[in-house]
Amino acid sequence: MSIFEDNQKRLKEIQALEGISDQEMSVFSAPVKSNYAELEINGRKYPSWRIVFNEALGPGKGGIRFHPDVSEDEVRALAFWMALKNSLADIPYGGAKGGVKFDPKAADKKELEEVSRQYIGKFHQYLGQDKDVPAPDVYTNGQIMSWMLDEFEKREGRHEPGMITGKPVELGGISMRGDATAQGGYLITKELIKNFLSDRQDIKIVVQGFGNAGLFMTEKLANDGYKIIGVSDSRGGVYNADGLNIKELIALKNGGGAVNEYKGGQSVSNAELLELKTDILILAALENQITKDNAANIKADYLVELANGPVNYEAEQILAGAGKIVVPDILANSGGVITSYFEWAQNRTGQILDEDYLRQLLDKKMKSGWSRVYGKYQEKPGAITLRQAAYIIAVKRILAAEKARGRI
Ligand code: GLU
Repeated sequence: MSIFEDNQKRLKEIQALEGISDQEMSVFSAPVKSNYAELEINGRKYPSWRIVFNEALGPGKGGIRFHPDVSEDEVRALAFWMALKNSLADIPYGGAKGGVKFDPKAADKKELEEVSRQYIGKFHQYLGQDKDVPAPDVYTNGQIMSWMLDEFEKREGRHEPGMITGKPVELGGISMRGDATAQGGYLITKELIKNFLSDRQDIKIVVQGFGNAGLFMTEKLANDGYKIIGVSDSRGGVYNADGLNIKELIALKNGGGAVNEYKGGQSVSNAELLELKTDILILAALENQITKDNAANIKADYLVELANGPVNYEAEQILAGAGKIVVPDILANSGGVITSYFEWAQNRTGQILDEDYLRQLLDKKMKSGWSRVYGKYQEKPGAITLRQAAYIIAVKRILAAEKARGRI
């Protein structure tokens, strides 16, 4: 099943709920720019893409993913979600995404640098602070952004740090970018708890995915005293009904270990982890984790999408039917791109803002995102999901920009 097509079903619902015309909805039927290139390293070929879904609100914006399962369909869906995410966050960007079908875990540093530089070699003419602005995504990081910026500036013959975000501070990044997705997801989860679980003591949480976003978010929630009873990474998971020692797990992970090597709990498969009895399930791995095949077995009452697209359309119908609440990705994981926006704005103006101030601004923007989505959700109690509320707001802002431009 195409991930992009799966999302068209969600859009159909928004169209019906809001009475939007077919002509207006055609804005969301296909990306405005889709570029493909083949990278070649040591005789091996790697398909790669950069897709801009929409640019009515501003330049393309969204990360670049290195993963062996990357496909055009996936990049297109991710670019679409970025368009909605940026719109919902009220930042001046369209939506874009890039990807290379390549396994960075099997590559050495030289190959990683080569893939990063070749990617820019193929796509630099489509990128720029006013055209399309990449950032990190799954298995890419500040070092990769640095090589990409360096290659771009070499080819273009000028400095332009605002062409990419998620850079190290020495190249114009901001240090809070590293844990910004997690910080945003943490703030949203606190809002969820405040609005739905305020009468509950001893809230239990399971986290799928212990990469950049999942690890930092787990640490923040554990520091607040929530009981983290299960975590997993790509190699499997660990469970302890009395709560895991997150400090020890992070030390294990940072030392190059896998969470299922941890001795303070019982080892579980990734599939079993998703079905554990818990209050909140945080999905911080990849898309399509909850599908019609496992949705009916999910015991968590609340699901938070820290990854992009972990709950597919059919699964969400089943979850909603069972009275479960899903906090959508375009809200829950928007802290990353909001902080990218701060970085980009600083790069463009040359003004360096105090990080305490930016942290407060992130806090404010996340809470404002929550209250707009929650407010819309409450307008029609029981009639729409949090995702539908978020999609309505995001779709309408893009359509308003398209109309103002006279395109629809
Ligand atoms: N890759 C992140 C996301 O999916 C961040 C994108 C950005 O900062 O542009 O939201």
